[in-house]
Amino acid sequence: MRTVKIFDTTLRDGEQSPGAAMNIGEKLQIAKQLARLGVDIIEAGFAISSPGDFEAIKTISGEVEGTVICSLARAKEADIKRSWEAIKDAPKKRIHTFHSTSEIHLKYQFRIDQAEALRRSVEMVKLAKSFLEDVEFSPMDATRTEIGYLCEVIEAVIDAGATTVNIPDTVGYSIPTEFGAMIKTIREKVKNIDKAVIAVHCHNDLGLSTSNSLSAVLNGAGQIECTVNGIGERAGNCSMEEVVMALRTRSDLFNADTNIITEEIMRSSKLVTKITGMSVQPNKAIVGANAFSHESGIHQDGLLKDKSTYEIIRPESIGLHKTKFVLGKLSGRHAFKTRLVELGYELSDEELNSAFDRFKKVADQKKEIFDQDLEALVSEEFTTVPETYSLVDLSISSGFNSEPTAVLKIRVGEELIEKTEHGDGPIDAIFRAITSITETKSKLLKYEVKAITGGTDALGEVVCSLEEGDRAVSGHGADTDIIIASAKAYINALNKLAARKR
Ligand SMILES: [Zn+2]
Repeated sequence: MRTVKIFDTTLRDGEQSPGAAMNIGEKLQIAKQLARLGVDIIEAGFAISSPGDFEAIKTISGEVEGTVICSLARAKEADIKRSWEAIKDAPKKRIHTFHSTSEIHLKYQFRIDQAEALRRSVEMVKLAKSFLEDVEFSPMDATRTEIGYLCEVIEAVIDAGATTVNIPDTVGYSIPTEFGAMIKTIREKVKNIDKAVIAVHCHNDLGLSTSNSLSAVLNGAGQIECTVNGIGERAGNCSMEEVVMALRTRSDLFNADTNIITEEIMRSSKLVTKITGMSVQPNKAIVGANAFSHESGIHQDGLLKDKSTYEIIRPESIGLHKTKFVLGKLSGRHAFKTRLVELGYELSDEELNSAFDRFKKVADQKKEIFDQDLEALVSEEFTTVPETYSLVDLSISSGFNSEPTAVLKIRVGEELIEKTEHGDGPIDAIFRAITSITETKSKLLKYEVKAITGGTDALGEVVCSLEEGDRAVSGHGADTDIIIASAKAYINALNKLAARKR
């Protein structure tokens, strides 16, 4: 059985999803989870694109072990040097450089000919190779590149030292039979192809990114580039969980598998949802809320007799366990910590103390605390930002015949400010009070409330996406009271915006 490498680009291509910008702490949390998940390569960012990206890659390179850390670089000297600076501390590292090869891109975007694009690609692969062994090259817009020229470029960059050649369907244009045939042609025509791994990077504009990636595997591809939940530029990338579970479930057909620890899939999906604020549709394959719920009576009957009748994947195999009561009001710190360790969370003493305080408050209001509640509680720990603003008190009145009114007390630096505002509804009144106290002018892009578990005493989780200038961030808040959760989420988003200004 062949092993297909999983190259995760949630932190690079995934972050290019509108509103999914992440700070360094958030990127580090995702990178640690990706390492637990067992991905082979983490594309941690695009070093030259911003100081924040550079710092994130550098931090991840210093703290995340067991997987290759990669930085993206255009085929430019400055990009490659900057990438090297960012990743050099990582125990295992890679530079991923790329240049367009399609006629459309060369003619209209770069205004250079094929020979010049080839020359630049080779030269920059050589430069990257002077820093390290592991070099990946992508001919951007490969699926719209003339095949003869594409093969020529691939052969030349392998000669120059590229150890992985990635074939991107940059604009999500290809279809499975065609894409598979392309990989086959590359394997047949490129003389030195056995010296490199063929990777694929498919976009989902036609909903075919997973199918195209799998078709490539059938034709010899050895690495798939993907993201958790399929997030990414435009319609997104190939979704990690789909491609991994397709290979695992149908290994009889593919004769290939990955190094992914599938039991970590659900946790990875939730973490990415929480941090990016991008929810997964309920009917999403593998990680959607309905992916394992059977409604039809006939199906339920079959399942009760034997699971294999209608279930092709065991929910436990992706880390989805039956919701169970774990802790309550009387549970102590030790039980709390033990359960967190079982769930895979390692918290410092300080993080544990603050999470335990929040747990006690929630346990006062909610009889049973489920795993999902705990995850919501501790993941707040992972998404903390310096608190420029902190909520001190809130009271609200609203009713059928009265105007919704919110009174908020917020600490802004050293100062404690209180204001009363009215609004169209309680949430509107609260948000008005927050913007008036903090004197901020951000635009609310998205407001979403979810109940984490069932029951009217469930923890409510709120996501607020705010935009200010060209920055967009998502804030989170969890509380048994959704009004308080809403205020927390809005303030969390403002704190993230404030942290980015520093
Ligand atoms: Zn992409």
